[in-house]
Amino acid sequence: MSFSQGLIKMKENDDSRAKSTPIAMVAPELKQNTDDTEITKTCAVLGCEESKNIDSELFFRFPEDANLRQIWTDLTGRNNWTPTDYSYICVQHFSVDCFECNADNMVVLNSKAVPSLKLPKHVLEVIFLSV
Ligand SMILES: [Zn+2]
Repeated sequence: MSFSQGLIKMKENDDSRAKSTPIAMVAPELKQNTDDTEITKTCAVLGCEESKNIDSELFFRFPEDANLRQIWTDLTGRNNWTPTDYSYICVQHFSVDCFECNADNMVVLNSKAVPSLKLPKHVLEVIFLSV
């Protein structure tokens, strides 16, 4: 293999790595500008693995409203679990009608939003039974 072929090969490897690795690991210096809670966000929905690849802006805190908070908690599929101020649910569990634009033109969840997508199987069964 010639030197230039070697370079091309390395470049290809770099490209594929960049696609599959979260940006924080590719460029650790970017971390310094974000606070700790941003990096450690995980999705509370049981078995939600894909949330590792989701932007920290696309995680949503549990609602303040006690009733709604309980509904969200039930929908995570976790037993004997209580959400904290650092509990989040990621964007992929909400349908488009859960979102609205706020005054700053940022996309936020509306006040009645509840997770309805990609929920644990046993949770969905309960919902269907109770409808
Ligand atoms: Zn999730």
